[in-house]
Amino acid sequence: MPDPRPSDSLDPTDWAELRRDGHRMLDGMFDHMQSLRDQAVWLLPPPDQLNAIREQLPRAPTLLRDVHTQFVRSILPYSSGNAHPGFMGWVQGGGTPVGMLAEMLAAGMNANVGGRDHMAIEIERQMIAWTRDLFGFPDTASGLFVTGTSQANFMGVLVARTRTLGPPVRDRGLTVIGRQLTAYASAAAHGCIARAMEMAGLGRDQLRLIPVDAEHRIRIAALRQAIATDRANGLEPFLLIGTAGTVDVGAIDDLTALAAIAAAEQLHFHIDGAFGALAMLAPRLAQLLSGIERADSLAFDWHKWGQVPYDSGFLLVRDGALQRQTFAADAAYLRRAERGLAGGDWWPCDYGPDLSRGFRALKTWFTLKTYGADAIGQVITGTVALAQRLAGRIAAEPEMELLGPVPLNIVCFGYRSPDADRLNAEIVADLHQSGRVAPSLTTVDGRTAIRAAIVNHRTMAEDVDALIDSVLALGRAARVVQAACA
Ligand SMILES: *Cc1c(COP(=O)(O)O)cnc(C)c1O
Repeated sequence: MPDPRPSDSLDPTDWAELRRDGHRMLDGMFDHMQSLRDQAVWLLPPPDQLNAIREQLPRAPTLLRDVHTQFVRSILPYSSGNAHPGFMGWVQGGGTPVGMLAEMLAAGMNANVGGRDHMAIEIERQMIAWTRDLFGFPDTASGLFVTGTSQANFMGVLVARTRTLGPPVRDRGLTVIGRQLTAYASAAAHGCIARAMEMAGLGRDQLRLIPVDAEHRIRIAALRQAIATDRANGLEPFLLIGTAGTVDVGAIDDLTALAAIAAAEQLHFHIDGAFGALAMLAPRLAQLLSGIERADSLAFDWHKWGQVPYDSGFLLVRDGALQRQTFAADAAYLRRAERGLAGGDWWPCDYGPDLSRGFRALKTWFTLKTYGADAIGQVITGTVALAQRLAGRIAAEPEMELLGPVPLNIVCFGYRSPDADRLNAEIVADLHQSGRVAPSLTTVDGRTAIRAAIVNHRTMAEDVDALIDSVLALGRAARVVQAACA
């Protein structure tokens, strides 16, 4: 009998040809990474390249090398720029060649890390153990890789909800229970926290945004007052969220004070440490995070300061059993076996919303093993030193001003002008189009600011200096134009 499907497999008939193509593709990416500094941070995707990708669904095959040629021509040059040393716009990591290779290996394995008994699960467990140790969490803590901190914060809110209302909330929902839970975070907390409250069915309005002090840290007295007021009004405070590294200026809340309040008020203490938590790897910075070891749950990203390629978010939960109670579900097709592939006593699908999951742990494990955790810590220390250099130069230039505190690696500043809000927005757009450096624009205490977040391990003093020199040149040019028009 002939095989009914002799040639439907998607594997190549000519492996030697695939090897040649594959090696060329890999070399192309090494060339790309090696020459990042000579490229533009960002280029607007041009109309001809946009037209080139707007095709009909391809029903017929195309040679891999031709598809790759299109990738090189139409896609690769028009990236969002965060791998480039001049990228300082938003808090984003640069990725590494090792991370890229590990991602390729993970794709080759095509592991589904939802559950069952295989080694990818064990690597994720090992990553959880390292993370637990790094942050001083007990052995009973659990954790999970997720897309990013937005998702990890959402899961943290759900864990807190289960802790307060018990597992029945999963069946009966909130309206049946009829209690009004309130949560607390600073006004500088990331927007995904309000969205987490919304998605958890608790409502954005039940998140109290507490004012911050001059250092952009939550005001402790105002927090106490808000909790007391809510209790007096019959509401039920249940969750306190501290931020370790605010997205605007990099402020770290007083985590020790928050831990004490959470303990006294019996609130779940969650920390959004999206980028800042990994300062734990930098000996001189770790002390800024003191109190983080007292969190009930901690969300952070390996893909920001950790330099792991996107995406690699993480949630750590002190009470592993509570995390399981929040997410585990029975289903016949997920039945556990005593032995065989369906065995294993720790299935990630019990600890988060995803069933099918990729092998994010591998690129993170490779990054830590290959470079060593101390090297990541040095990168973090280095970015903070660059931010201080930048802040120092701004303070020394009478034409410029700092517009926020610089506790870590983020500098908010502006070129002085009677028309500063408009001028600084123009300067940032001009810088993006110049392709040399890409800061972002934000609002700090009501003023438009140029924001440089130094996160990328490739960023050097020359990039920071190029930013200052370019802002000065653009600001002065605008002054000349203004004078000519006056
Ligand atoms: C980046 C960031 C987030 C969101 O994390 P994602 O990984 O982008 O989902 C949340 N909070 C803070 C403080 C951040 O810097």
